[in-house]
Amino acid sequence: MTVSWENNYFAVRLGVIGARRYEKVSYPLYYGEYGVIETASDLLHFNREHEIIRAQGKGESWPHRNEWLKRSLGDDWLYYSTGGYTGVFETLGEFYLPNLPYPTNNLLGGHPLRDQAVRRVIDGWPRQVAACLEQAEEAPEAVKIFLRTCLAKTPEKLAAKSVAIFANYGGRPSVLPPDARHVDYQLIPVNIASGCLYKCRFCEVKNRTPFRAALASEVSRQMVGVKELVGADLANYGAVFLGDHDALAAGGELILATLGEAYELFQLKDSLMYSSSAFFFASVASLSAAGDDFFARLARLPYDIYINIGLESADQETLHYLGKPLAAREVEETFARMQALNDRYPKLELTANFVFDDDLPTGHYPAFLKLVRDSLPRRKVKGSVYLSPLKFDQPSRLKTFDFNRLKRESRLPVFLYLIQRL
Ligand code: SF4
Repeated sequence: MTVSWENNYFAVRLGVIGARRYEKVSYPLYYGEYGVIETASDLLHFNREHEIIRAQGKGESWPHRNEWLKRSLGDDWLYYSTGGYTGVFETLGEFYLPNLPYPTNNLLGGHPLRDQAVRRVIDGWPRQVAACLEQAEEAPEAVKIFLRTCLAKTPEKLAAKSVAIFANYGGRPSVLPPDARHVDYQLIPVNIASGCLYKCRFCEVKNRTPFRAALASEVSRQMVGVKELVGADLANYGAVFLGDHDALAAGGELILATLGEAYELFQLKDSLMYSSSAFFFASVASLSAAGDDFFARLARLPYDIYINIGLESADQETLHYLGKPLAAREVEETFARMQALNDRYPKLELTANFVFDDDLPTGHYPAFLKLVRDSLPRRKVKGSVYLSPLKFDQPSRLKTFDFNRLKRESRLPVFLYLIQRL
């Protein structure tokens, strides 16, 4: 039930139900259930656990009235920027560019997180809530309790909670699949395998541990742990991320069992979000080891499932340059199988990553176009290809030009891989 109350100093709305379906729109759309505190200078959103999750400044000094801050499950503040509405959708497949507080491969965007008005909101929200509580003498008890509980979830406690979530997972997920953009990166992390198979020389996100699949009992314990940590906000989640860098290498049976258990334990049928999704990474080796029967069973689960695979290049010299221990022929075969699976199963989407840089061997882009243009008889909307720059720096004009050219020529949707962590 929604409760609204206001005085001359602030307004509160409790139990607001926002959008229940993820949509790609060019205006702010807030998902799930949340509570709102509004003052003359700020708009603050809190989740069902009374933890701050979004914020926006008001007035002239705020960079743009359609832009806002989001605090992630990993306790990062991200600034959602329109990018001036020029090129963000074409580049990312989304209307908003999440500006991240750590180095990543941005082709767009400035540094809004350094903006004074933005810093004031990030650093000052507890003072705003405390000031509202001081002005709340006449407010109903429900409003006072809400304010007190929000205030008790201090930045230190929020940081400690994210540390507990990482510990439960077995470390912080250093990168989420690019397809997680379809649920605004709002997902419950469940780690079913640590490490990866290849340890490619170029990769910035790998860890050093040898690959190891988790035991089903460890995964079950972990799911109970994350459910407890997410608490009452669980109803705002409709998506699961199976970590870490190559969940498929943990084996089809573990994936099917984990997704089945997650659906029940996380009560995804009763989520405020209408559809359920699952995301994980795979590799050339793990995809080739997974039989057709696995994909048929996967497609019968009550999820939309996104599997992202780092192919990197279909050119042998480039694979060698990257230190990726694969033959170009294996990459071509994997790409062809991905297309076949995408055509066969409406609820599965397999997407691929390729590297993108000014200094790659000359065979890389022709080999890329041979796959994404010449090997396909027609344009397709499914099976996005993500380009991942090797260097996390400002874009060169050449890079931007190359990106646009590759996007135009490809018969699959092409986007930039914005490397976002949990
Ligand atoms: S690109 Fe993928 S397989 Fe290669 S090191 Fe990085 S995480 Fe591992």
